[in-house]
Amino acid sequence: MLAFLQDIANQFGGGKCWSCGTNRANGSGFCKYCEGALPRWYPACCQHLADLRHALTDRPCRYWFASLRWESQTRQLMQRYKFQHRAELASVFARLLAAHIVLCYQSKPLPDGIISMPMTEKSWHQRGFHQTALVAREVANLLSIPYLSNGLRIVRAKPMQHLTSQRDRWHNSYKSQLALGDFKGQSIAVVDDVITTGATMMAAADALYRKGAEQVDGWAIAYNQGD
Ligand SMILES: [Zn+2]
Repeated sequence: MLAFLQDIANQFGGGKCWSCGTNRANGSGFCKYCEGALPRWYPACCQHLADLRHALTDRPCRYWFASLRWESQTRQLMQRYKFQHRAELASVFARLLAAHIVLCYQSKPLPDGIISMPMTEKSWHQRGFHQTALVAREVANLLSIPYLSNGLRIVRAKPMQHLTSQRDRWHNSYKSQLALGDFKGQSIAVVDDVITTGATMMAAADALYRKGAEQVDGWAIAYNQGD
């Protein structure tokens, strides 16, 4: 292609790095510098979530995996995705997460199905797209695992912002989700954008266990470990 045509194509976003905006993106969506600097999480269970002393259920998720740490580069990307309507970033996140999952499971069997963390209709309408479903669906495609749409629904959504203690947030989330359908004997991975306390993920796991799921794993684009 003529160089100037390539430049024009790049101007329209095709080849721009998602982090720094230069026209040097490779297949991953980042230039090689930003790709190397991505704050990747270790291919191991997110540690404090694997040992939740404050959990209100005795059946936690089996594995907790996240592809990125919650650092400035991750925050900036998530901000673009959620609030600047850059839904194209879903593919970038999905590729990062799918690659991370392959690394994490190695010889462990992958789950039977993938479900996205539900969103309230209100925030769906405000945002214009279902941020976790887009990523979950693409991760399912990449890993050749069935994507189960509408597997979970929020039945009681209260604002979380005013709840500062982790314990209060846990109480508020617990039993706030309903699993639709029968998951008897299945192992399911729930995909969320960011895991912080783990409360929302545990609510999802609890709902799926109540409908017969054998194992529930929590996957997220990023893990905010906090302090
Ligand atoms: Zn870059």
